[in-house]
Amino acid sequence: MAQKWVYFFGDGKAEGGGKMKELLGGKGANLAEMTAIGLPVPPGFTLTTEVCTAFYANDRQYPDGLTEAVAENLRRVEELMGRRFGDADNPLLVSVRSGARASMPGMMDTVLNLGLNDRTVQGLIAESGDARFAYDAYRRFIQMYGNVVMGMHGEVLGDILDGYKEDRGYKLDTELTTDDLKQLVGLFKSKVHEELGHPFPEDPQEQLWGAIGAVFGSWMNHRAITYRKLNSIPAEWGTAVNVQSMVFGNMGDDCATGVAFTRNPSTGEKIFFGEFLVNAQGEDVVAGIRTPQPINKAQGDGSLPSMEEVLPECYAQLMQIQEILEKHYHDMQDIEFTIEKHKLYMLQTRNGKRTARAALKVAVDMVDEGLIDQEEAVMRVTPQQLDQLLHPSIDPKAAKDFIARGLPASPGAASGSIVFTAEEAEELAKAKLKVILVRVETSPEDIHGMHAAQGILTARGGMTSHAAVVARGMGKCCVTGCGDIRIDRQAETFTVPDGRTFRKGDVITLDGSTGEVMAGAVPMVQPAMTGDFARLMTWVDDYRRLKVRTNADTPQDAAVARRFGAEGIGLCRTEHMFFEAERIMAVREMILADDSYGREKALAKILPMQKGDFKGIFSEMKDLPVTIRLLDPPLHEFLPQDDAEIAELAATMKVPEQVLKAKVAALEEVNPMLGHRGCRLGVSFPEIYDMQVRAIMEAACELIKEDGFDIVPEIMIPLVGHVNELTLLKQNATRIADAVCSRYGVEVDYLIGTMIELPRAALTADQIAQEAEFFSFGTNDLTQTTFGLSRDDAGKFLPFYVEKELLPVDPFVALDQDGVGQLVRMGTEKGRSVRPKLKVGICGEHGGEPSSVAFCHRIGLDYVSCSPYRVPIARLAAAQAALADDC
Ligand code: PEP
Ligand code: MG
Repeated sequence: MAQKWVYFFGDGKAEGGGKMKELLGGKGANLAEMTAIGLPVPPGFTLTTEVCTAFYANDRQYPDGLTEAVAENLRRVEELMGRRFGDADNPLLVSVRSGARASMPGMMDTVLNLGLNDRTVQGLIAESGDARFAYDAYRRFIQMYGNVVMGMHGEVLGDILDGYKEDRGYKLDTELTTDDLKQLVGLFKSKVHEELGHPFPEDPQEQLWGAIGAVFGSWMNHRAITYRKLNSIPAEWGTAVNVQSMVFGNMGDDCATGVAFTRNPSTGEKIFFGEFLVNAQGEDVVAGIRTPQPINKAQGDGSLPSMEEVLPECYAQLMQIQEILEKHYHDMQDIEFTIEKHKLYMLQTRNGKRTARAALKVAVDMVDEGLIDQEEAVMRVTPQQLDQLLHPSIDPKAAKDFIARGLPASPGAASGSIVFTAEEAEELAKAKLKVILVRVETSPEDIHGMHAAQGILTARGGMTSHAAVVARGMGKCCVTGCGDIRIDRQAETFTVPDGRTFRKGDVITLDGSTGEVMAGAVPMVQPAMTGDFARLMTWVDDYRRLKVRTNADTPQDAAVARRFGAEGIGLCRTEHMFFEAERIMAVREMILADDSYGREKALAKILPMQKGDFKGIFSEMKDLPVTIRLLDPPLHEFLPQDDAEIAELAATMKVPEQVLKAKVAALEEVNPMLGHRGCRLGVSFPEIYDMQVRAIMEAACELIKEDGFDIVPEIMIPLVGHVNELTLLKQNATRIADAVCSRYGVEVDYLIGTMIELPRAALTADQIAQEAEFFSFGTNDLTQTTFGLSRDDAGKFLPFYVEKELLPVDPFVALDQDGVGQLVRMGTEKGRSVRPKLKVGICGEHGGEPSSVAFCHRIGLDYVSCSPYRVPIARLAAAQAALADDC
């Protein structure tokens, strides 16, 4: 059978359905679904994503049979509408819109009012009885088509319009008369001809195919590519194209258009939420040109009448439809509608983008409402959203210097230096500076700057403006519609009502939950882990198999991690304890000592402090497992770098400055990451590890004896490459540990294990497991050594690799499952082949990154360990991975 390229929907029947998102795109599938469940949807048809794929595979040629299929479907629409495409007396007008599998708001192109020309506009006048409306639709069409399809810069025709209005002293588009609009159509067309060297197409068929081509073409435009990259959407998916008969929200005061969410997308509250405009077309609502009105009385401050008041019957019908949609889709919906002469039409529904806070509330509420089960709720909140919930908010007790107020478009709080362009935002963010992007309004071209900024502030636009929608999706704090600020782009400043002027580089703070803008950096507080959050996390823990530990070096970090649900410490980096002010001198003395006697003398000073550290950590973790890593970094990192510090140390150690300088220089290494570090230090200077093992064991013995704790210390030896290293160091550690136990008269079930951080260790993991009682994959070093990429230097060129798609992501952020991951898998299997109960975890940065956590689950690790703030994210990712197994 010939391939079906086009799917029809209309009059209660649809060839496609909601489950066909891959083929019809999100918009097409949902239009079909809404049609099929009897909602009022203008008829139309969808060109599938396979057309897009074939189009690109075939050097931008359409597949055979497409032209005929489009013609046939157009005929069906004509029949249902009782109008003909291109007919001068009774013309059918259509919209042409993109619709990818995943929603990409505003990223691709749309053309409305297609089919208008000098002849059909007469038909539209006759039919609507409204010449002004018809010419307004015509001039909008030329503007959109000129820009989207013909590639003219949006401002060219926009400037003509603005100039025309200015000449006549008009402020609003609504002041333009029929004659004005007619003239504008002429002016626009001449300008198109002049700029492009060919006329604006009159033939509706040519218009239609031009628009279809532009929408497919827009799949590969710069902003769509950026959006896909940011949201991990594969280019192969392609977009569908939806051709749908037009309905008009701009035919008079009994017409309107709007967008709404079935619940509040910022807070998640179950309140129908949205905006609309009387006598307007869809793009007017999101463009921020006119201030939209609230959809119901529950919103807004009463200054603008709501749809509930202005168009009560349509509002009542919309209320019913939104309920039907939520029950049908079992999720919060984001809908678009148009009212043409009191008749309501649904133009779109999709699962609504929401803030993290809303995602959590909606998921938990829907479980309570019986719309979804707990498993589904766990799958509904993404680890990235949870991450946002763990971000700080403004400290309610902090003093605030309010300068302006806008709409609370996307919650959270952020401070940063003011920038006025997306480019500056990106540049400064690269230099690790925090910035707030301040714009009159944002457009899809700003997306890279929005991504780079900490927060976004716009002077115009409502709660559904581009800035608001995109920021919510990104989890960025955003304040929109802040009419209080007057931006001077030229001077790179903005002024606020009290007369103050803020310049580029000045620091401000945004509160996206209240819409407040403040001068300076306002202190923030950490979020609470209670209520809905706590409930969801208990469900999460029911489903996951992987344990989640934390990387913590202090009792304070350990306490935070426990609050976040850590089930132990997977990595305590002891070197961080060495840097504290009162210890560093003793550490330096130890490093620079001439012999083991000198080293032991210095270590004796450190021992009680290390013991104190471990007691603090053990006490905080109570009976949970704690893995302590013996000293790892190259010793040079602890030494003084400048002359003044060397002189001070020389005086303390009572050695000549020059001698000390020479020693410091001698410890320098060409390649320290592959040098004298990790277990190699333990081999060369056994006294260091002896002291650390003694401190660990004494701390454990004292707590077991005095407080009855049940501690199983896990002593971890880093950077082992050969089993012989471990054999030697394990012997030493065991000797010390046993001696401490017998001195205290306490039995301690300590374990001695190793980190697997070198490819050789993974390859010989069966030999290493003869000695090691546990493995912890140090995937930071393992990534470094597997790729041969310096952890410290790769930042200079890795971003380029990601940008050029040589690597899908930075392998220091998300585990390279094909390469490094294979070593982890192999190391685990080999280790368990000789020690079946071998406990295996991962403690590199990847332990808190969702895709890496899922991988660890799949290959059967026992736990992941990550920084305290990522513990809830890892718990959720582990539960989602386990649930995905069951699917
Ligand atoms: C690792 O290498 O993954 C690790 C956890 O150790 P560090 O980052 O301290 O080298
Ligand atoms: Mg390491």
